[in-house]
Amino acid sequence: ATPTALLVGTGRGAQMGILIKGPEVLESTRRVDTIVLDKTGTVTSGRMTLVDVIAEEGTDPAELLRLAGALEHASEHPIAQAIARAALAPSGSSSEDTAGDPAPSGSLSEDTAGDPAPSGSLSEDAAGDRDETRSLPPVESFQNIEGRGVQGVVEGHAVLVGREALLADWALHLSPEVAAAKAEAEAGGKTVVAVGWDGSVRGLLVIADTVKPSSAEAVAELKRLGLTPILLTGDTEAVARRIAAEVGIDEVFAEVLPQDKVDVVARLQADGRVVAMVGDGVNDAPALATADLGMAMGTGTDVAIEASDITLVRGDLRTAADAIRLSRRTLGTIK
Ligand code: ADP
Ligand code: MG
Repeated sequence: ATPTALLVGTGRGAQMGILIKGPEVLESTRRVDTIVLDKTGTVTSGRMTLVDVIAEEGTDPAELLRLAGALEHASEHPIAQAIARAALAPSGSSSEDTAGDPAPSGSLSEDTAGDPAPSGSLSEDAAGDRDETRSLPPVESFQNIEGRGVQGVVEGHAVLVGREALLADWALHLSPEVAAAKAEAEAGGKTVVAVGWDGSVRGLLVIADTVKPSSAEAVAELKRLGLTPILLTGDTEAVARRIAAEVGIDEVFAEVLPQDKVDVVARLQADGRVVAMVGDGVNDAPALATADLGMAMGTGTDVAIEASDITLVRGDLRTAADAIRLSRRTLGTIK
């Protein structure tokens, strides 16, 4: 390839929202036959929201969300932020069921809100509560367990929030009813985390993310270019399978710990595959650097962008296919 042709190709890429780090990158792009896609933030939007709280018998769901929210407030994980945001939301606003309902049931303020003859200070307190943004209790001895969850002490309770396996390490196991609810939510593509404190499992928090509208089309294009797409995630097999099916991916690697993502790429390379990896997170960086071609979402973290050969400026997976097509054309015309 002549330097001029490569320069032209790189310039065309920039116009298409594909930032290419150096001329040699186009050569590795052309040979790629496998493309590993991170799930959260790459195939999905990564903007997570809490959609359900499922409490074990005897646990108040509001208390479950409050203690879990307090703990997650100290974490920057997208799951943690969704939980903390919901726990901090003004009363009623986090619940779809009661939104717009003139007489929501179950909240403290509702008992007195409609009372025509409020007595004493109780109703004033309740009315005041309704408009206030909630505050969360402080956390002591907070610990982040990478790829598994968080633990810490809130109001004297030793609280755990994370994947089921993390709680199982502490001999905390879901009841059959709650386990069934978890399986159902995961079959629907939702991310589910478990909550426990003081030696008992207390329930689940169900978090929804959305598949980006362009992801299915991007996967179809990558396949048309002859590439095998693979979904890679720390989430469970059930969630991975559901999201993969939604966008047309057949192969998944699920429940992969952050530090093990790089091994998945290395193993594929050892099998003789030429591997591209697309990711956005801090924990994708080693895998992005190890891949024959690393592509970072422009919407992702700086660490991922620095580890990559190409930045997809708009965070649109379709431009990954554009990048491969561009390099084949650039090099094809001059061979
Ligand atoms: P992904 O690969 O989807 O970005 P991670 O590797 O960061 O996910 O995390 C894998 C799993 O570990 C999550 O699906 C969740 O079950 C659990 N987890 C990680 N961090 C947290 C946290 N702060 N709170 C609750 N669960 C967590
Ligand atoms: Mg990600």
